[in-house]
Amino acid sequence: MRPTVHVTTAGILTVVMARFVPVAEALGFFLASSLLDVDHFVYYAARFREMSLRKAMAYFESVMNVPRPCVCVCHTLEFVVGLGLLTLASSSRLLVACLAGVVVHLALDLGEAIAMDRLSYRWWSLLEYGWQMRKQCSIHCSRQS
Ligand SMILES: [Zn+2]
Repeated sequence: MRPTVHVTTAGILTVVMARFVPVAEALGFFLASSLLDVDHFVYYAARFREMSLRKAMAYFESVMNVPRPCVCVCHTLEFVVGLGLLTLASSSRLLVACLAGVVVHLALDLGEAIAMDRLSYRWWSLLEYGWQMRKQCSIHCSRQS
C-alpha cells in the first residue's frame, strides 16, 4: 500500500484519538501506523547495500506483482505477537497505542491484499518463511548430490 494512504489514515485516526488520549499516545499511534513500512527500506538496504529511499520505493513498485519478493519483519504475525507480549508485560499505554497503530497498518495492508487477490504475495509469518526456505534448500541440495 502506498505510504500516503497509511499516513492519511493514521492522521485522521490520530486526530480523533487525540481528543481522548494524551498527545504522546496519539503520536505513538501515528508513528507506528505510518512508519511500519520502514522494514521494507531496511530489507532493501541490506540486500542491495544501497541507502536510497527513492530507489527502494522504485524497487518495491517494480516487484508489486512478484510473489513474496522480500521478508518484511514488521509485517509478520511474530512481530505483532512479540509487540503484544511486550505491551502486556510493560502495561505501557504508549505501547498499547503503538500496537494499535501497527494493527491498523497491517489491517490496511491485509485489506488491500485480499481486495487485489494477492494474499499469498507476502510472507505473513517468519515461521512459514523459514519452513519454505528449508524445504527449498533440501530440494535444491538433494538435486546437487
Ligand atoms: Zn505495510
